Amino acid sequence: MGPLDGNAMAGVMHDLFARDMTTMGYECTNWGRTGVVAEMAAYLSGPGTVARCRDCDTILLMFTERHGMYCIDMPGIAQPVPPSATQH
Ligand SMILES: [Zn+2]
Repeated sequence: MGPLDGNAMAGVMHDLFARDMTTMGYECTNWGRTGVVAEMAAYLSGPGTVARCRDCDTILLMFTERHGMYCIDMPGIAQPVPPSATQH
């Protein structure tokens, strides 16, 4: 099964951050690709949720849930930009 797009994580991210996070901007630590969460390649079939960079497969985001507690890692994101701070 191929990856979904980042919109597939909208529900769990909304639960965690209490807002729509699909428009959160990021910069990949590897090649510097910038984009938004909705563009990430999301893998929901494993024991946790993993979102990878579409250019270089770097793991950008990981969510794991254990006994109702979520653990969030953003190992591949250099510059998370919360939606409220995004200006266009
Ligand atoms: Zn990348």
